[in-house]
Amino acid sequence: MGRIRILPDQVANKIAAGEVVERPASVVKELLENSLDAGGTDLRVEVESGGRRLIRIADDGCGMLRDDALLAFERHATSKLRDVKDLLSIATLGFRGEALPSIASVSRLLLETRSPEETTGTRIEIAGGRMLRCEEAALGGGTVITVRDLFYNVPARRKFLRTEQTELAHIASLVTHYSLAHFRKTFLLITGATQLLHVTPVATLKERVYQVFGSQVLDELVEIGVRERALLMPPVSAPPSQSAGSAGSGYAADPEEPPSRTFRLTGFFSRPQVQKANRNSIFVFVNGRLIRDRLILHALSSAYYNLIPPSSYPFALLFLECDAEEVDVNVHPSKTEVRFRHGPFVHDFVRDTIRERLIESRPAPSFTPAPRPLSPGAQPAAGLPYSEFSQALANEEPAAGASVVEEPRSAVAAAPMPVAMGIDAPTSAEMLESAPEFSLRPSAGPAPRLDFTAPPLEVSPGPPPSGKLRRNLDAHGEFPADALPPPEMSLSVLSDLRPLGQIHESFIVAAGRDGLWIVDQHVAHERILFEQVMKQRAAGRVEMQRLLMPLIVQLTPEQQIDYARIADELHASGFETEPFGQRTLAVKAAPAAIGAANVERILFEILESVEGEVPGASLEDLRRNICASIACRAAIKINTRLDAGKMEWLLRALAATDCPMSCPHGRPIALHYSTRDVLKAFHRI
Ligand code: ADP
Ligand code: MG
Repeated sequence: MGRIRILPDQVANKIAAGEVVERPASVVKELLENSLDAGGTDLRVEVESGGRRLIRIADDGCGMLRDDALLAFERHATSKLRDVKDLLSIATLGFRGEALPSIASVSRLLLETRSPEETTGTRIEIAGGRMLRCEEAALGGGTVITVRDLFYNVPARRKFLRTEQTELAHIASLVTHYSLAHFRKTFLLITGATQLLHVTPVATLKERVYQVFGSQVLDELVEIGVRERALLMPPVSAPPSQSAGSAGSGYAADPEEPPSRTFRLTGFFSRPQVQKANRNSIFVFVNGRLIRDRLILHALSSAYYNLIPPSSYPFALLFLECDAEEVDVNVHPSKTEVRFRHGPFVHDFVRDTIRERLIESRPAPSFTPAPRPLSPGAQPAAGLPYSEFSQALANEEPAAGASVVEEPRSAVAAAPMPVAMGIDAPTSAEMLESAPEFSLRPSAGPAPRLDFTAPPLEVSPGPPPSGKLRRNLDAHGEFPADALPPPEMSLSVLSDLRPLGQIHESFIVAAGRDGLWIVDQHVAHERILFEQVMKQRAAGRVEMQRLLMPLIVQLTPEQQIDYARIADELHASGFETEPFGQRTLAVKAAPAAIGAANVERILFEILESVEGEVPGASLEDLRRNICASIACRAAIKINTRLDAGKMEWLLRALAATDCPMSCPHGRPIALHYSTRDVLKAFHRI
């Protein structure tokens, strides 16, 4: 008698649930995706006790026919795929047909749905995968799914759930980010009587970012706009009949296909001054699907290379759109990972686009560049972690970031909460029972409610000085009405600055059209030299100086190995060296930018920077490291007096660099104190 058995459906569903339903936020994700796939435009999410006790998602989508509603709980039942060919071009968020049966097998689930094609709706009740009830019901259009007592029959899973606040934070973050991807739709998230997120349809992503994060965060972001790049397809040389057989590449098989595919990137990313300790503020959507993807994360880091310190991360909201055939979403049960058919192309497109936008916009830092918590006006849900993603990359998370997964983020928990808890009538009796313990609840009395039915969006620079300004100034001397220029958002203004002097012979103070600037002379010069050396290096002609006497340098055995590995690159960067006996090196020439006295120090510094690095580590990184070391040594030091001419030259040369925002190690170069800030500080506005 054989020992192998086919598992009953109930067991199979529970196994699938193990992958698909990790925590309450995974249920919210699957149900929200279904509602979006169903064409819903008004999405309401209600949770209790961090989703453990109740998750209810209501949509105004297409609903389900009676028969479909029953079928939906069968394993692998889906309306989104027909055959295996469809797997190559999935345009919906769902396609596996696993979510509903999985969720129903580990909870008590109630489905209420009606399709406009039927006059009555359907109500189905399932507990632990067993159908309890299926009946006709008088219902409005759309679908409401209520999931109670998640994991009530899987104690092992229940044990792994975190505190209610943490689970709620995951849900809030998830709903918030889906609301960013679908800004033309309404999203409401409530827990008990507390409304955590309410956004109504807007016309642009920018307005949605404003609704969710507030104007302060928006000010720190650079908008990508719409950037596209076409991927040229290999020419179809074989006649159609033959090429059909050589499928695999998909596109080559069809002679009707256009010869190129367009990739489009939109979204926002932060100025280099906004630096996060972990990747929790990076959100990537591919064709409307929230994913975690190493390739895109890497592209993003490369875009910021030499602009922010290596251990920091930016804030980013990236939306990549491409032909459905260009991305394989059938890689992971919870559909949070994808595989690109042309990964290197996507990587370079994302990296170049962000880098180009950073260079074009040259975002100016504000005077207080320290990373700020969310602005008080922001919706509380906005900055919370969604760990399914952060955990997926757990091995890459710095320790500081990891704790975020365990605890509700302190910045948010402690954030002032003017957010209103305009008390909506609770929609069910249970909601009256208890309000969940959630630290985001307001401590004080009523506050204005965050409702965005009429978004008061003001994203352009503020209006010129108002009557108020004039009035205030009357008593203290006239302030010309047109004296308040539009805020300077770009560092292109650097070349027009008038240097006034130095602070501590280290920082150049300069006046501009809009306020005051302080420039760190050392890092400014470092940036100028860095780009200069990089350009010379790229053109293959680094200026060299021949040393009067060869410099003899002693190496340790490790340094000798490192040296052998990078000798070619050192040579190309302007160092002419020769082995000189046992573990000794004779340096005959060095880059012209550095003084002869610095040569030895720089060589050791470079060797140290490559120490222990995996052999074959990116040549580009090595090159940048060498150039950064040269630039750093050669740059004017702090505590150096500069005359007006030198200061002017420095500012002009800095303005001409590609990235005047940060030095090659990621430190800011210039701080801006705007006229508006000055007026505010003097209480003149
Ligand atoms: P998938 O989304 O992968 O198809 P699910 O188990 O999530 O699988 O859902 C099964 C099917 O139930 C879907 O294909 C869809 O036809 C239907 N369905 C689920 N949720 C909704 C909804 N909110 N509105 C309309 N139809 C839905
Ligand atoms: Mg689904």
